[in-house]
Amino acid sequence: MPSLSPYPAAPGVPGVLPTLSGYAGLLTSRNSVGETHLLIGASPLAASRLQKSLDAGAKVILISPPTELPYSIQTHINSGTVIWHQRSFTSTDLTTLGRQEVENIVDLVWIVSHPDAAEISRHCRRLRVPVNVVDKPELCSFTLLASYTQGPLQIGVTTQGNGCKLASRIRREIVAGLPAGLGDACARIGKLRRRLIEEAGETPIDDADEATDQTATFNNFVTEGEEKTRRVRWLSQICEYWPLEKLVGLDMEALEGFHAEDIQAPAATTEGKRGTIALIGAGPGHPELLTTASLRAMETADLVLADKLVPAAVLELIPRRTPVFIAKKFPGNAEAAQEELLARGLAALKEGQTVVRLKQGDPYIYGRGGEEYLFFEKHGYVPKVLPGVTSALSAPMFAAIPATQRGVSDQVLICTGTGRKGEPPVPPEYVATRTTVFLMALHRIDKLVEELGTKGWPMDTPCAVVERASCADQRVVRTTLGVVGAAIEEVGSRPPGLLVVGKACGVLKGGWGEKGWVVEEGFDGF
Ligand code: SAH
Repeated sequence: MPSLSPYPAAPGVPGVLPTLSGYAGLLTSRNSVGETHLLIGASPLAASRLQKSLDAGAKVILISPPTELPYSIQTHINSGTVIWHQRSFTSTDLTTLGRQEVENIVDLVWIVSHPDAAEISRHCRRLRVPVNVVDKPELCSFTLLASYTQGPLQIGVTTQGNGCKLASRIRREIVAGLPAGLGDACARIGKLRRRLIEEAGETPIDDADEATDQTATFNNFVTEGEEKTRRVRWLSQICEYWPLEKLVGLDMEALEGFHAEDIQAPAATTEGKRGTIALIGAGPGHPELLTTASLRAMETADLVLADKLVPAAVLELIPRRTPVFIAKKFPGNAEAAQEELLARGLAALKEGQTVVRLKQGDPYIYGRGGEEYLFFEKHGYVPKVLPGVTSALSAPMFAAIPATQRGVSDQVLICTGTGRKGEPPVPPEYVATRTTVFLMALHRIDKLVEELGTKGWPMDTPCAVVERASCADQRVVRTTLGVVGAAIEEVGSRPPGLLVVGKACGVLKGGWGEKGWVVEEGFDGF
């Protein structure tokens, strides 16, 4: 007789479950608290199944003849959290070991190892008991998900038998993209939501499955209506639209005195939030030399404190709404400017703002980054430090000078031409196979060359002055140590610039022309 059912008959071999191909598994979260789960067979895999059941609040009964158990299972048995029937499985176990409430039928069965797994699986299914058989998907009425749990937040991934390693990898990637503490945030938001609903005395619709019922006004921020229901709707809206990081940082206590106007006001996002600071490197000048980490930090900052040296092309990437404070560093004011900048940063941190300290090049290479780190740490705000492309290594590169080159230069020294409080620093030794980069040196180039001379540096050592590296007006002067002072005097200076000295300067490009120096203008871009 033809079936009257509108659904196709389940395909496959009788007794064996049909494959899912073409269908989707029904993903659910099962409440197993107080259930009785049966574990048939003992092996290290049994331990992980057992733990899943215990985590879910079920009681576990292990059925296995006497054997040496995996350590974790034995521990559970010793402490009484798991009961072990030391014998072989019999089919009546399925209908006698369960809870009274469900006529002693067990609630779920894990078969880890048993020669009659197929028969037991069939029996379970006749009883409508969910069953899972290790490595036998065709005997499983349910399978496990690669899962992640943090507080009430659970994430599960399945590829439906197409690779559990792949599923775990996908789960890891998903989890890595989430802010830390999201599960705790779910708990806090849930608590607030329940309280607001209680106060409002109604049940708002904002469950995931009902989101398709959104009305045309759903996207509009709440602005009017009854205060109490507005709070509930506001909460569901921020859950929908706010970046997860902001939801994680949301301080529920701070929302006590919530008003609808707060929704878009910055106060709602920073109030009660702890300030954070990042010291970030802007690179030598060209905006494409910013790292994506630095760019993201600039884009999400509430306040940017920038060095005077950071070029406009980089500053332009800061969103217009974000206030930018540029250090007023000029000769004689360096200390005062630094103090003012740090004070501003600290004040903003105390207001709960996200502060970015934007520094030229790399923050720790002659950028006082370490001092700033200590300052903010002392005041209770430990900075995140993001590296930057340092001019010390990139400026030579943009001038076609390989800092190391086999047979020519096997080491690089980065040093400064200016010491503390303007004192000349001790000049470095001459090493024939070394490339030496002097930052902050060009304003006293004659003095520096003289000092190097006294240390035995040959005056015919190739060198280059690289200015505004990676900027449109980049300039390179190639010459030798004995002539570099005269060259700078003639061509003038175009700060910021540095001096590179060593044979590597003559490797890719050579010849100093009639004057003893050649000048190259411009930056080609990437
Ligand atoms: N933290 C920075 C250096 C700060 S000290 C970095 O890692 O690059 C400032 C000195 O850096 C300047 O005096 C100059 O010598 C050098 N400098 C910075 N940007 C430069 C650029 N685009 N081209 C050449 N030199 C640069």
